[in-house]
Parts: sequence; C-alpha cells; structure tokens
Amino acid sequence: MYKKPVINRVDFSLSSKYGSPVKSQKVKSEIDGIKIEELVKEFGSPLFVFSESKIKETYEKFKEAFESRYPEVQFFWSYKTNYLNAICKVFHKLGSKAEVVSEFEYDKARRNGIDGRDIIFNGPHKTKEALRKAVKEGAKIHIDHWWEIKDLEEIAEELGVEIPVAIRCNMDTGVYPQWSRFGFNIDNGEAYDAIKRIFEGKKLFLIGLHTHVGTFMLSANAYYVAAKKLTELKNKVEADFGFEIEYIDMGGGFASKNRLKGIYQPPEVIVPTPDDYAEAITSAIFETNKGKLPKLYLETGRALIDEAGYLITSVFAYKRLADGKKSYILDAGVNLLYTYFWYNFEVFLTKRYDNLTEPAQLNGPLCMNIDVIAENIQLPPLNRGDILTIWPVGAYNVTQWMQFIEYRPRVLLIDLDKNVRIIREKEDLDYVIEKETE
Ligand SMILES: *Cc1c(COP(=O)(O)O)cnc(C)c1O
Repeated sequence: MYKKPVINRVDFSLSSKYGSPVKSQKVKSEIDGIKIEELVKEFGSPLFVFSESKIKETYEKFKEAFESRYPEVQFFWSYKTNYLNAICKVFHKLGSKAEVVSEFEYDKARRNGIDGRDIIFNGPHKTKEALRKAVKEGAKIHIDHWWEIKDLEEIAEELGVEIPVAIRCNMDTGVYPQWSRFGFNIDNGEAYDAIKRIFEGKKLFLIGLHTHVGTFMLSANAYYVAAKKLTELKNKVEADFGFEIEYIDMGGGFASKNRLKGIYQPPEVIVPTPDDYAEAITSAIFETNKGKLPKLYLETGRALIDEAGYLITSVFAYKRLADGKKSYILDAGVNLLYTYFWYNFEVFLTKRYDNLTEPAQLNGPLCMNIDVIAENIQLPPLNRGDILTIWPVGAYNVTQWMQFIEYRPRVLLIDLDKNVRIIREKEDLDYVIEKETE
C-alpha cells in the first residue's frame, strides 16, 4: 500500500542524561527453544506464554540463597501474583505452600490440593464465614486489624477451641511512602498492644509474626530493618507473655528484573540479588534473636514469576500521528498489561529487519486514549502480522487483566519437557455473558 513519505524531526526527548536509547534491534525468536512464530501460527495472537523452566530456575535461586543461610525456610506462593492453577501447581510441585488474601484465593488453593494447614491467610477482608472455615481447616491466620481479633475470639468461643494466630506488623523501614495500612504498627506500640490484647483474651495464642513491607523493594536494607524489628518484638512478647513464636514471615516484595518507569539504570544494576535479600533478612534474625530460632517464611511473588511470563502480540495496523510519529495498533494493550503503569517493558522483534529504526508508539486495540504500551520505542518498519514479544509480564497481569472491550486470550505453559500446554482458553461470548440474567 503506498503511503506518502514524511520527514520527521529527531525527537530529542528520547535522550536522557544516560544517553540516547539503543538503536539496535532486540530480537527474540524463541521461548525455551520453541519458535514464537510457530506458537502464533498454532495458538493465535495475542498469547501469554509462561516458561516452567524459568520459574524453576528462579525459584531455586531464591531457595538456595535462603536455605544456604538459614536452617528452616518455607516459601508460600502468593496467589494474587498469578493464580492460574497450572502456575500455582508448578510452585506447589517445587515445594511452595500457599499464601492467599481472600476467601476466593483460599478456596482456589484448597481446590489445588493444598491442605488448610499449608495456607497462610492474609488480607484485610476475611469475612467471618471465611475465617470460620480457615480455623476449622487449621490455616495460618494472619490478623490484620482489631476487628479481626474480635471475630476470631467469637469463633473460638463458638467452636470451643483456642486458635493459633499470627499478626501482621508494619513499621518504618526507611523506604517511603511507608505501608502502614496493613496490620499493626510496631514503632508506636500498637503491635505490642494487639498481642497483649490477644494474651488477655485467652482465646487466641500467638505463634507467628508477619510483615510485608512493600512491593518492588529496591532496598535489601529495608528487609534488614524489618527482620530486626520483628525479631525484637518476638523476644519481647515471648518474655512478657510466654508465647512461643514458631515463625517469622517476611512477606514478599522482592523486585523482579523489570524496568520501573523513571529509573534509567538497568535492573541488573539496581535490583538486589536473591543473596542480598537473604543476607539482609537472615543476618538480622541471627543478630537479634533470643531463645529458639524461629522458622523463616517467605511469600515472594513477583520476583519468582515476572521473568517467566511473555506476552506475544501482533501488529494489526499502523498510522502516522499528527506530529508524524508512527503508531502501531497491536492486538494486545493495557487490558492485558496492568503493570504497564509502572514498567517500561522490553519489546522484542522475532527476527532482524534490514531497515533503519525510527521512533514509534505502541498502542493496544482498545478504543481508549490511555491504551499505550510504549510511548517512544525504536522499531524498524513493521507490517500487519509482524510479531512483538513483551517481557517480563509474568507477575500480576494474568490476575489484574480486564475483560474490557476485548476477550482475554489464551495462556500457554511450556513445561520442562518442552510440551506446549494451553493452561487457560481464550474467552468467548458465552463465557463473558454467563452471569448476566437478562
Ligand atoms: C502481594 C503480597 C505478597 C507478594 O508480593 P510480591 O510483591 O509479589 O512479592 C506477599 N504477601 C502479601 C501479604 C501480599 O499482599
């Protein structure tokens, strides 16, 4: 199709003090040895693709970092980060138990074969029915607020049992804004007061202390501070109330290798390694703990799955914007990439192109102005059907994606034997309108 040629001014806003963006072409033609073009031919576009071998590799790195430093470590897979059953089962097979933040996630973990006792039940909204079920099944309940203490005491009374509980704590770790809306504050004495209240109520007993200090935490030191404060609290409440704290749960929040917007240095430079996080946490516990060493629980989410997930999308059309910039319309957009609001993803071509690159914008299929997944990216001229691979997208996107305007696409898992499995089917009209009643 003939298009009138245009002359463009060089867009200097593309440069920063770190230089101008790379003009070379980033190419990725396969995932785990399977050609991306073949995947599209067989399974359509767009497609989410997960790599089991990448999940395993990342999990083992974290596991080793912690287990080489600490005697008893247990990972609990954070369901909300990616709760597709097949993905959860990969983590469960690797030895991870489950961490859930709602009744829905709790039920999902149970249906995935996880025993109630192997589920950590977090979150600010646990209904009384959900709590009652979790208590009966022996789940590890992490109390978020005072109302929950009262609810649990009533359940204890009703069932005639004493309930083992943990509380979630928050604190100043030197990273701001501080997450203070979940759990009880250590610094102002609220966490201690909550434990005192639990002690005096005599219906619950404390077995664990939990924190989840934030997400995408680029400071390993924040974990050092948090582990120290939790362990100090453990020492104090063991001495004052005679509780035996079985475990300290450091939550999740370790950063993945994604590029945060506004940060120009590459992830390899700024993201702490699994060893950095593990060293910070375990050294704080060793230095601070009095009495029996607690078990160490972790609820790492994004750092374990982000890099194992790819979104494959195809060019549907392109146009010139009024300022001359090229805009590609892709078949996947922010409906599928919730994390776009924080990250500048890597965008790969499936092959090398001969032509020069030029600045372009990537738009999704939505009839919404906000549907932009890259504002300034250097690309060679692409045509309808050309494929782009967006990475890393494994964390939060297949849970926070929206059925909005478009159907949600298929999700594939390439397993350790390189079998390609469909782990979630593309949606259709029947699925979408199933719950409508008129
Ligand atoms: C979301 C969440 C996690 C996982 O967080 P990541 O940042 O994905 O590691 C762990 N624990 C709790 C309580 C959470 O809410």
